Amino acid sequence: MADVPANPYAEQLKQGVQRLRFARPLERQYRLYQRQESYGLRRIALAFGVLVWLAFAVLDQLVIGAPERWWALALRLGVLVLLLGYAWLLLRQPHSPWLGPFSLLCITALGVSATAVVGIAHLRHPHFPYEGLLLICMAAYFLVGLRLSEALLSSAIMLAAYLAFDSWAGTAPARLANNLVFLLFGNLMGAVGCYLLEYRSREHFLVGNLLQALAEQDSLTCLHNRRSFDRQLERLWRQAQRERVPVALLLGDVDHFKAYNDRYGHQAGDAVLRQVGQVFQQAARRPLDMAVRMGGEEFAVLLYDIDAAQMLQRAEALRQDVEGLQIEHAGSTSAAVVTLSIGVVCLLPQPGQAPSSLYQQADRWLYEAKAFGRNRVMSTAL
Ligand code: GH3
Ligand code: MG
Ligand code: MG
Repeated sequence: MADVPANPYAEQLKQGVQRLRFARPLERQYRLYQRQESYGLRRIALAFGVLVWLAFAVLDQLVIGAPERWWALALRLGVLVLLLGYAWLLLRQPHSPWLGPFSLLCITALGVSATAVVGIAHLRHPHFPYEGLLLICMAAYFLVGLRLSEALLSSAIMLAAYLAFDSWAGTAPARLANNLVFLLFGNLMGAVGCYLLEYRSREHFLVGNLLQALAEQDSLTCLHNRRSFDRQLERLWRQAQRERVPVALLLGDVDHFKAYNDRYGHQAGDAVLRQVGQVFQQAARRPLDMAVRMGGEEFAVLLYDIDAAQMLQRAEALRQDVEGLQIEHAGSTSAAVVTLSIGVVCLLPQPGQAPSSLYQQADRWLYEAKAFGRNRVMSTAL
């Protein structure tokens, strides 16, 4: 990891995943990712929930006598209403932020109502099975798409409810203790498994995002690379067509850079590219602006919704900032220091016009800037 540029995913990987909690903005992003990832699992869990509900409801009717049977049925029907509400949300609003809290509510309600039914049944049938409660705990750990902390909360509430209802039913303390120990050990296994799964899921999230970020970043300057630029331009171009606003491109190329390398060495050349890269980075100030190393000693800034006058001002400021770095360049025939030629274009995307026309036109003006003596900005708007 030593040579991976600073990046929130790399930072978090260095700090570790053990505590199952990331720094703030990343934690929010992970929860969004986890919500999307667990959608399929939640659909399976819903089917499981309905099946368990049916099995338990039938068991109640077979084993529990009247009038307790009707209490049990009322509890079960209450949970069924929750499950149906959850099914509606899951199928109609798959991206709802309420899916997580609703899953937690459903599994906890399923668990607490099951402990209540077990308590009611134990009033008259001390051997009514309670082991099914462990199934619901396992579903909380593995099936519902909960994080470990949520699954632990749900299971703790369920165990406390079990203790309360079975004490109320008059179950002998030795038997109650025996059952609780069994449930606690089952939960311990579930919690360890759930921890390992969440650990892997968090690690997968970090590594996946890190690789994605690295694939879109230039390793020398840490600016966006050409691939990332192409994707962003496609997106912005479509957005600009919809919103009828202009998109601008400032395309800069370091003057006589081959001569710089020849005179000062390739490593010194790399250092210049890093410094020029920083100037471009500072020029991309607004959220949709993007600073790019297009390749070699060619850089760009992509700007959204900007008029021609502002664009020329930004380009001229950029040129002056590079000149202002005052990096000696004795091999240059156009100045004593490292300078930049910039071609600028601002387009209102027309229907059917390809985004690549932005780059082609900026490149043409860059060529003109070189031909007119370098260290200058050239554009249609001049
Ligand atoms: P012009 O003013 O017309 O742009 O001339 P130029 O010498 O800058 O342009 P030319 O295309 O002839 O040379 C570009 C040079 O940039 C050649 C290449 O060695 C150098 N270069 C490209 N990528 C890197 C890099 O990553 N590091 C270093 N140090 N040099 C690079
Ligand atoms: Mg050059
Ligand atoms: Mg070049």
